[in-house]
Amino acid sequence: MQAYFHRGRGELAHLERVTVDQPFLNILRDLTAIGAAGAALAVIRERVPDHEPEPAVFDVAVRFLAALDSGAAAEEALVSLHIRVLALLGFAPTLDRCVICGKSPPMGRSASFDAGRGGIVCRACGGGRLVLGAEALRRWTLVQASSEFSNEPWPDKERMQIHEALALLDANHATSSVLERTSTARAAWVGRAT
Ligand SMILES: [Zn+2]
Repeated sequence: MQAYFHRGRGELAHLERVTVDQPFLNILRDLTAIGAAGAALAVIRERVPDHEPEPAVFDVAVRFLAALDSGAAAEEALVSLHIRVLALLGFAPTLDRCVICGKSPPMGRSASFDAGRGGIVCRACGGGRLVLGAEALRRWTLVQASSEFSNEPWPDKERMQIHEALALLDANHATSSVLERTSTARAAWVGRAT
């Protein structure tokens, strides 16, 4: 899609015209795909700062829509996009070692995940509220390193654990950006008052 617009005053832009290069019409025939596409755009909107071009994220989004359009598993595609967007923007969690002590979990074992600390935390360091199974950890790492979208569904447990970890990372990000905005606003106000 190409959009032609010019900036007005403030946040609003004046849209002149839009042309569609790839219509992705098959997505519109499947409610699950429509839902996944909407959720993916929400992930991108939440994570990418306003007015900052992120061509790599744009590229992942286009590949994601093309995959959905050609019948990729919708939930799996959404989770894959989410993993890759976080990694591209520098928010990838640490999954190969404890974020506190740096110790690697034994191969083929599950690990505790703590979104607030940004990755897995070993039991000796206090653990985390979510358990990621060995398969989920392996899947996450593979998906992050790849640019393909799976046509095959993943086992439910695996998909749900990754989905839950991503939701916790998002919730943590939303809370910390609100705190950041609040403290910036407070600093500005204190600055004026003194
Ligand atoms: Zn540790």
